[in-house]
Amino acid sequence: MIYLGSHVSLKAPDYFLGSIKETLSYGANACMIYTGAPSNTRRISMDSFKIEEAKQLMVQHAISMDHVIVHAPYLINLANVVKPQTAQFGVEFLKSELERTALLGASYLVLHPGSHLKQGLETGISSIVKGLNEVLDSDASSVCIALETMAGKGSEIGRSFEELAMIIDGVHKQDRIKICLDTCHIHDAGYDVSNFDRVLDEFDRTLGLERLKVVHVNDSKNPKGSHKDRHANIGQGYIGLESLARIVHHPKLLDVTKILETPYIDGVAPYKREIELLRNIK
Ligand code: FE
Ligand code: FE
Ligand code: ZN
Repeated sequence: MIYLGSHVSLKAPDYFLGSIKETLSYGANACMIYTGAPSNTRRISMDSFKIEEAKQLMVQHAISMDHVIVHAPYLINLANVVKPQTAQFGVEFLKSELERTALLGASYLVLHPGSHLKQGLETGISSIVKGLNEVLDSDASSVCIALETMAGKGSEIGRSFEELAMIIDGVHKQDRIKICLDTCHIHDAGYDVSNFDRVLDEFDRTLGLERLKVVHVNDSKNPKGSHKDRHANIGQGYIGLESLARIVHHPKLLDVTKILETPYIDGVAPYKREIELLRNIK
């Protein structure tokens, strides 16, 4: 069994129930949501989320909460040492996102590690570590934060497995840190996705394969190592359908939740077609 879906919206009037309906409309058995707009931190009360109705629908269609992923908003930057109040805002917001993730019943909250804004990698990493410790030390839930591998655009941290390992190294509750591997991002960061077994070996040596819980399946509009982060539709970019299908069906990643974040085409979500395409190729 593979668990493959896409990011889906969460909006009025049906909120989480609507997210599950959208998931089903793509023929998916997994999904990723933002608890509000990805680009801002306004959040409405979860009382209107229709969580119970959504869960009933999930039971009917055998979708497990294990494969519902939450993504934190992009605005959180725990590495912002230029404006420490921004990092602190991120800490507070991340605490509330963890609570929302727990209330929903999901297990993983994906987080971009942050950008050091030209202040240096080590400075940025220690700020992230401090933020993560503040968040996790005060949280008694079992929700894990899945740090995402980044393309290395600007001063993004997390462009290599080593950088992510450096973060984990400083965290007190290391069991609660997992990894979300984004295929477009690692390709843009310079990893050779066409030789994925080698990438996985390196991942295993640096981070441990058991930490890998989510894969973002995206093609890339740019060549390997470009540090751009522009997602392409499946088979329309520099990674290609064959390599992406091999990752989706990889025997070592069967339990890992796979999520498409490819761009809409002429205002229409490509997910039904792309999910079908990836599922049926082996
Ligand atoms: Fe992301
Ligand atoms: Fe991603
Ligand atoms: Zn991206």
